[in-house]
Amino acid sequence: MSTEPLTSLVMAAFTPEGPLSRWDPHFQPRAGQTEMAQAVAETLDQGGALVVEAGTGVGKTFAYLVPALLSGERVLISTATKALQDQLFSRDLPGLAQALNLPVRMALLKGRGNYLCTYRLALARNEALLPDRQSVHLLAKVETWAQATRTGDLAEMPGLDERSSLLPWITSNRDNCLGSECEHHKTCHVMAARREALAADVVVINHHLFFADLAVRESGMAELLPSVRVAIFDEAHQLNETGVQFLGRQLSSSQLIDLSRDLLVAGLSLARGQADWQGLSAQLELAARDLRLLLGGGDKGGKLAWTTQAPEGLSEADWDAMLDTLQGVCQQLLDALEGALEVAPDFARLSERVQDMLSQLAAFREPPPLGSVRWVDLGHWARLMQAPLDIAETVRTRMLAAPAAEASPQDTQDSDADDAAPWRDAPARPRSWIFTSATLGDDATLRWFTEPCGLSDARVLKVQSPFNYAKQAVLFVPREVVRPNDPQHTPQVAALAEKIVRALGGRTLVLTTTLRALRQIGETLRQQLADAPGLEVLVQGEGSKRELMERFRSGDADSQRGCVLVASATFWEGFDVPGEALQAVIIDKLPFPPPNDPMVEARGKRLEAQGRSPFNHYFLPEAVVALKQGAGRLIRRETDKGVLVVCDNRLITTGYGRRLMDALPPMARASSEPALLEGLRRLTKASTTDPSS
Ligand code: SF4
Repeated sequence: MSTEPLTSLVMAAFTPEGPLSRWDPHFQPRAGQTEMAQAVAETLDQGGALVVEAGTGVGKTFAYLVPALLSGERVLISTATKALQDQLFSRDLPGLAQALNLPVRMALLKGRGNYLCTYRLALARNEALLPDRQSVHLLAKVETWAQATRTGDLAEMPGLDERSSLLPWITSNRDNCLGSECEHHKTCHVMAARREALAADVVVINHHLFFADLAVRESGMAELLPSVRVAIFDEAHQLNETGVQFLGRQLSSSQLIDLSRDLLVAGLSLARGQADWQGLSAQLELAARDLRLLLGGGDKGGKLAWTTQAPEGLSEADWDAMLDTLQGVCQQLLDALEGALEVAPDFARLSERVQDMLSQLAAFREPPPLGSVRWVDLGHWARLMQAPLDIAETVRTRMLAAPAAEASPQDTQDSDADDAAPWRDAPARPRSWIFTSATLGDDATLRWFTEPCGLSDARVLKVQSPFNYAKQAVLFVPREVVRPNDPQHTPQVAALAEKIVRALGGRTLVLTTTLRALRQIGETLRQQLADAPGLEVLVQGEGSKRELMERFRSGDADSQRGCVLVASATFWEGFDVPGEALQAVIIDKLPFPPPNDPMVEARGKRLEAQGRSPFNHYFLPEAVVALKQGAGRLIRRETDKGVLVVCDNRLITTGYGRRLMDALPPMARASSEPALLEGLRRLTKASTTDPSS
């Protein structure tokens, strides 16, 4: 490794004569990218936390990867999704390592549910308890594949649907994994992936895994965090919402059903006749189904507030009786398991799970701790939830203030990483924390992100997008559209969307804030555009996000085929369609958080108690960030052109609309609908006649 300071090495890498230019002839040094890379290098040198908002097109991935690789430190990189993990691991990291001529050992680590559990596979093989014939056929295929796979990563098995009902039978979870007691421990794919990660220079994980690792210290699992000095969080805007899911408590009816199934499998295969396993399992399953029925609401998704002793709509007496039943069944299970503890480690693990459930049930009888909120998630199953209102405390105490990093475990590759780590006695160095995303707030301190994430003292950097929005994009806010609470609002949005889609020949993304609007607009467009040749209407839910995005990308002016996609929720971000396939983004209304969501309500109340305005300090900043995310779908590269239509005139008629408007990139404005449609026709003509325009 060079003795030059890291910042010099990094600056040299980004020059026109540097290794990046030599490796990629299209590489162009960009001031924003270099500025970010320098700040990252300084933080890696000195330790501490850096928060960077890097607008679309800055090239933030290279801006953190180059310093990270050149530093020679062990690095943990966390992204929001598995798709982004794959992109980093398969494309960006190997490319850069080659460009910089650095021999880097890389590892991709996913959650344990992604790997084959060979112990549970053996149990499934021995018991005729699989849910359906399809699973039995699939099991035979998994068995063949299991002989050949090195990684055990189920994504590599052809023809295995990630929603297959077989998966819970052949994968482990924290509850049912036997850890170091497992007879397959030495050849276990989960443990092997973990060992590989602990021995690598760069480990790519996702935020879910990071918080699961932080929240639940699994027995027999070495933690990731103590072994790295540099942790980088990309798509950091999702960190708070992901973190709160893992840092509280939850107990679901599906967990109870899983336990009843695992009890039956272990009882019948390892201790048949020692207890009435079938009877006990059936009792637990019945109690789980009764819990779901009691909470009501059918199979529809939704949330029940839970601010008193019992969840909304239930009497205290009924709720207490339900908890008594569950506790009674758990106690019977414990007694039965006690008699089988010596037979196999499975029963000790089952007993721990039951004890854990008993303590969860006891905790849900007590009021929630200060600074947290409780509710019930309803769907096919019911989940009792308790979560902190943010991750600030955890970030401050368990991340930023955690003991400095231990030295590299590079010499321990051959040892079992689950054993006490020998590198732990080496001298410690301060950690560096990098948090980055295209959207982290709208003020100089990025308070929307830094406050709930406990990063108010972090160094903050905002790097503007290099795109020329005034030339590349036009904003239109139709004044005459009725207010969003008017029943005519959604039909009016659908009518305007139809005109835009016809003018552009598709190439339009309609983002809604509710599923009701999504369905209504989707149906209207499908009916109205049935006669339009070459136009395809796609609606969220008709395929995976990846499938819909690929379908959408395939439309462009050359192919005389265009798509309109109507979508909500997750499509407001991560939907990346550069080029002419996407030239209009329509947003139905300002994306304020739903006021009756238990988490939103609790956060609002906390602000009130602090004497701060929930609207100014929570609802509005949330809407700002979501609007920036949605608008960010439009321009993805320097040559893109398009229109953003926000069908909510509060943006231009209210005082707070100014703050939202200021957060958007500085686009040109269309003054009227005819002017907008005329502009769209010109855009279409230019696309079809001059590809460089
Ligand atoms: S250690 Fe856990 S995950 Fe690995 S084979 Fe055993 S039960 Fe499965």
